[in-house]
Amino acid sequence: MSNLSYVNNNNGAWQTYLTQIERVAPYLSEDLQDYIDTLKRPKRALIVDVPIVMDDGSIQHFEGYRVQHNLSRGPGKGGIRYHPDVELGEVMALSAWMTIKTAVVNLPFGGAKGGIRVDPRKLSVRELERLTRRFTSEISHIIGPQQDIPAPDVGTNPRIMGWMMDTFSTGQGHTVTGVVTGKPVHLGGSLGRVRATGRGVFVTGVQAAQRIKLPVEGSRVAVQGFGNVGSEAAFLFNKAQAKVVCVQDHTGTIFNPEGLDIKSLQAYVAETQGIVGFEGAQAISNDAFWDVEMDILVPAALEGQITVERAKTLTAKLILEGANGPTYPEADDELQKRGITVVPDVICNAGGVTVSYFEWVQDMASYFWSESEINERLDKLMIQAIDDVWQTSETNQCSLRTAAYILACERILKARKERGIFPG
Ligand code: NAD
Repeated sequence: MSNLSYVNNNNGAWQTYLTQIERVAPYLSEDLQDYIDTLKRPKRALIVDVPIVMDDGSIQHFEGYRVQHNLSRGPGKGGIRYHPDVELGEVMALSAWMTIKTAVVNLPFGGAKGGIRVDPRKLSVRELERLTRRFTSEISHIIGPQQDIPAPDVGTNPRIMGWMMDTFSTGQGHTVTGVVTGKPVHLGGSLGRVRATGRGVFVTGVQAAQRIKLPVEGSRVAVQGFGNVGSEAAFLFNKAQAKVVCVQDHTGTIFNPEGLDIKSLQAYVAETQGIVGFEGAQAISNDAFWDVEMDILVPAALEGQITVERAKTLTAKLILEGANGPTYPEADDELQKRGITVVPDVICNAGGVTVSYFEWVQDMASYFWSESEINERLDKLMIQAIDDVWQTSETNQCSLRTAAYILACERILKARKERGIFPG
């Protein structure tokens, strides 16, 4: 149960995160355990009112958040989510997972996250721009290239990052490209950023598949979420001769046991904003997604998708967590019991933040790398990280998730210990 008075949702993502932290504690040395409470609360949480004038002249108020969970290892880093279910506990959990993620991949960042409780599909482009600019202005005193660097997440994209960068820069009186990542390339964005998270899911997935002796070629893949992360992961698996047999998004679920043509599906979604109605697949119910015969499952939509009940019957041998927090802790136990390998979010989807780091470095140096350089560096870092996590899991006889948390918590809490607690 959360010990913080301002988080009430005890079944929510924050609770999942707290359970994960409690599970890692026994693996840490005593001197680091003394500092673990640092990770059980965010350093700073800002709640803002975002009023905007709608196209019809009315005024609407939206709830916005920016949470900086931990800054022990460097500036905050984490995306901005636009979704109708956004709430403080969720943003806190997402910010905490960023703290763990940046530490697992060993990037010099802390963890942060933000969001607005809004359905962006219901706003016009002008309303979306006004919302983004007002939100940026409201959080501008706690973000910045050395303080906290936002990026895209569910419901946001490079165009929105461009508006954020412009609004922040206007306030400073000069262009500050390094304040956000995931920007359009001509505004200081990095080549390879848009596809980086999906690429990371694929790269870590291939490494894991090799280790559990699951051939990728011919394997059946099911993907939940066909946005930035899910569609790229599906594309790369398809390219590697795997069969993407089932895809689900907010509009419904489609299935083809022979494998879907992902390139055509991407073109269809770009046009219609959803997968439903795609020719060359049959529509099935959303619940049936979980019963499909599959070898690899890529949850790449929202948190809290893999419940104990679903974990009991899933046919997948390998789960690649493209989404943040898709698996409940009790479901994790069930999957481990059944011998199903889970590559946890904090490493599996770290490709995005890794190329965000490259983008930030390039912005600070005003010197840009080629896409092949980016991809090469990304693959190297991701392979190194999964190697480290796999080894830690073998040494400690624990799940990959606990292993990732051991590595991350050691790095974060060592930094905290060496910095000391102000004022001492
Ligand atoms: P996105 O907005 O591009 O796509 C989200 C997808 O999820 C869409 O296809 C949408 O239709 C689908 N979806 C939404 N609600 C759904 C529901 N109830 N059931 C089924 N599908 C649903 O978002 P994204 O950037 O691809 O992010 C997806 C996940 O990956 C999130 O958990 C996010 O936090 C995580 N993530 C994203 C990045 C990144 O770089 N974009 C990095 C790390 C982690």
